[in-house]
Amino acid sequence: DSRLERISSAIRVIPDFPKPGIMFQDITTLLLDTKAFRDTIDLFVERYRDKNISVVAGVEARGFIFGPPIALAIGAKFVPMRKPNKLPGEVISEEYSLEYGTDKMEMHVGAVQPGDRALIIDDLIATGGTLGAAIKLLERVGVHVVECACVIELPELKGREKLGDKSLFVLVKGA
Ligand code: 5GP
Repeated sequence: DSRLERISSAIRVIPDFPKPGIMFQDITTLLLDTKAFRDTIDLFVERYRDKNISVVAGVEARGFIFGPPIALAIGAKFVPMRKPNKLPGEVISEEYSLEYGTDKMEMHVGAVQPGDRALIIDDLIATGGTLGAAIKLLERVGVHVVECACVIELPELKGREKLGDKSLFVLVKGA
């Protein structure tokens, strides 16, 4: 698909951000390329429009950029999966490990129902810890996670292995 090359070139790589040695994949330049941004959303919509998805769960922060246009196009609700202490209502939360220490992800109680069919969206999968936590959180409340989807995968970090039997769909690979 020729659209993927344009998407790949629209992503800027910034060395040594936020720390020395990290090659940061910057999707803000993808958002400036109106064709590449449109193609990104279209590719996801083409894949998920007939999969009976009732919820698009977007992971803070960049899952909030890609998730809502997909949700609107496929007729699903959008549910934000947030960093701790951001959501005002009653939440359920899931702790997960980072390179150093732990973090937490939260979702509003009542945002999803048992039997909902979810697509989880984020911009990038690195170690897979973040998407792994999102899967657990949704499954704990009886949601069926149909698939996880990201714009970018860093395959060397083997994040897929943290997702158990869940499938992962990505558009492009970064290094
Ligand atoms: P993981 O939990 O898979 O190790 O890390 C994925 C999370 O970290 C995602 O929420 C993603 O937004 C963020 N992340 C890690 N590295 C990068 C990067 O190079 N570029 C961007 N845009 N996000 C990153």
